[in-house]
Amino acid sequence: TSPWSFFEMAPLDPIIGLNEQFQKDDYPSKVIVGVGAYRDEKGKPFVLPSVRKAEKILAEGGLDMEYAGIAGEPRFVDLALEFAYGEDSAALKEGRIQGVQALSGTGGLRVFGEMMKKHGSTTLYLPNPSWGNHKNIFTNSGLEVKNYRYYDADNSSLDFEGMVHDIKSMPAGSIVLLHACAHNPTGMDPTLEQWKELSSVIKEQDLVTFFDCAYQGFASGDASKDAAAIRMFVEDGHLISMVQSFSKNFGLYGQRVGALSVVGRDAEEAKKVVSQMKTVIRPMYSNPPRHGARLVTTILEDPQLTAEFREECKGMADRINTMRGALKDSLESAGSTRDWSHITDQIGMFAYSGLSNEQVLEMRAKHHVYCTGDGRISMAGVTSDNVDYIANAIHDVAK
Ligand code: PLP
Repeated sequence: TSPWSFFEMAPLDPIIGLNEQFQKDDYPSKVIVGVGAYRDEKGKPFVLPSVRKAEKILAEGGLDMEYAGIAGEPRFVDLALEFAYGEDSAALKEGRIQGVQALSGTGGLRVFGEMMKKHGSTTLYLPNPSWGNHKNIFTNSGLEVKNYRYYDADNSSLDFEGMVHDIKSMPAGSIVLLHACAHNPTGMDPTLEQWKELSSVIKEQDLVTFFDCAYQGFASGDASKDAAAIRMFVEDGHLISMVQSFSKNFGLYGQRVGALSVVGRDAEEAKKVVSQMKTVIRPMYSNPPRHGARLVTTILEDPQLTAEFREECKGMADRINTMRGALKDSLESAGSTRDWSHITDQIGMFAYSGLSNEQVLEMRAKHHVYCTGDGRISMAGVTSDNVDYIANAIHDVAK
């Protein structure tokens, strides 16, 4: 008998599975706006020119292929922390912020979850809605996952009051996960004043604040500006932890580049936490891959390449914003009388269209336009060539 005979076919991942379904569709004008990966004006995957330059520098560098340490490339970690917390961060200068390289955002989230479970945490709160993978990552880490209010579906806006109310009701010791910027999937972030209020509300509670920073640079086009909430929390004295992904801003999706960090009361405390991260990493995957981290290091170590990177990142954010305007205009030209202003109000990679699941399925069947079941449209996949087609499809099912 086969040891596998009782294995059932697992359901497709809701987002990755969408790609597989799309590949099988042979309709000529099919469009996919599902996965959150940037596409250029021609709808093609985009490698940043600064990354290409860094690749060349690395290729000529004759580097070895030895193992990285459990915590990855130390130079990369230093630069990643400066990138998020700011070169001028007092906490960084005091050595109170320490971190490890992570298997991109996903890997860092999982290491954090496992470490917190090992240290007695029981519950983690996610915004409702949140990135689809969050719940499974933390459930698999052994934590109970609960939600706090975030999105007001009736008004396509941030339910800030609900959010504050729910945070105030969280039991002491709970972990609250906040999207640092460009909230996925809603594209709605608190304003700076609202962040300030959240900082003081969270301060009054005994909570663990955990930032997921997956789109630094994609919200405003300026990576430093997008770190405002994180920097404010650290300045306000929060002892946060944070995961960073370099998938979107550096376009390094498949290279799996990320960092997981912690702000301690002092350097020794932060180092103790990092030592615990390492005890989670070692039996899980031993150590992270080096190439992507070396690419980011090469760029961030060089002021000229950093300036080029910042410009290219802004270019991606700008193109997406242009497409937000174009999609809204096309919907109006298609004859839609609905209010689509949320499309241009939202920021980051996604438009949370407000389409229902039935409308999404109808749009897939009738128009071969693929977005996720919650009506999230990856604006990164919208181009001047397909925007009218997408707008007509949305209008047709949303009428
Ligand atoms: N966190 C959020 C909010 C995301 O949207 C994503 C990717 O879509 C990630 C984390 C993790 O991405 P990666 O593992 O590619 O860094």
